[in-house]
Amino acid sequence: MTLEFDTHFEPRYGEPVEIAPGIRRVTVRNPSPFTFHGTNSYILGSEGSLAVIDPGPEDQEHLEALLAAIGDRPLTHIFVSHTHRDHSPLAAKLAEITGAKTVAEGPHRPARPLAIGETNPLDVSADTAFQPDIKFADNGLIKGDGWAVRAIHTPGHTANHLAFALEGTGITFSADHVMAWSTTIVAPPDGAMTDYMASLDKLIAREDRLLLPGHGGPVLKPQQFLRGLKAHRKMRERAVVERLATGDRTIPEIVKAIYRDTDPRLHGAAALSVFAHLEDLVAQGRVRTEGTPTLDSAYLLS
Ligand SMILES: [Zn+2]
Repeated sequence: MTLEFDTHFEPRYGEPVEIAPGIRRVTVRNPSPFTFHGTNSYILGSEGSLAVIDPGPEDQEHLEALLAAIGDRPLTHIFVSHTHRDHSPLAAKLAEITGAKTVAEGPHRPARPLAIGETNPLDVSADTAFQPDIKFADNGLIKGDGWAVRAIHTPGHTANHLAFALEGTGITFSADHVMAWSTTIVAPPDGAMTDYMASLDKLIAREDRLLLPGHGGPVLKPQQFLRGLKAHRKMRERAVVERLATGDRTIPEIVKAIYRDTDPRLHGAAALSVFAHLEDLVAQGRVRTEGTPTLDSAYLLS
């Protein structure tokens, strides 16, 4: 199964772009290697009250763009997919101005307890201040004027990651779990590969017709793309197992071999991805290590 990424995307910063009836996208001007052209905020609703999905980072220009798009209509809910600094921080200010309630699975947390002496390299990207007004559990439903949003707990990228299904439309907002332009970052201890793979299966079972991600353009063929993402991770997993079979023991050794054609500046991110696979392989019982798996552990095939 081949996995094809779609990197065609025109952000049109500050301007609401209608994606489907009752769905508008406003992209933040925060482009980077991790955010692509920027974070996508979505505005739901066409008659009556509105909701926002992922208000984005603290950014005055984007706040003004959202408020202009909302106009004088009431905003009732601000849905937050996960607590990364490019998605959730603007929720507080937008809620204060509009009176909307913030909705999310819960505050930021790692996917597992930290090992003794383990530091978390992902702390800088987390919005640990965010606390939702309303906790939205898996399969929960919130209704507004002409829209209803169902929570799909999709941990893996972060432990509290939610996708949001727009009931009755076949459209799901996949945030950072599934994006058309790139694979997502799955990095312990905030992320977990075991969870991520299960969350891919969860979306495969839904048979949506369109996914609207947190960065870049839509996923037009979700089934094919989701299966491609799964196959891609399985291929990486096989590569990690092969390196262990040839005698590599540590994450830097494996990264050097598997990512030899990759820009060395990306080797830090690559190490976290290999770490995520090793943690999952240990959980599967196929690889062993002493104690909790960490970035510095030595690994052996079982
Ligand atoms: Zn994220």
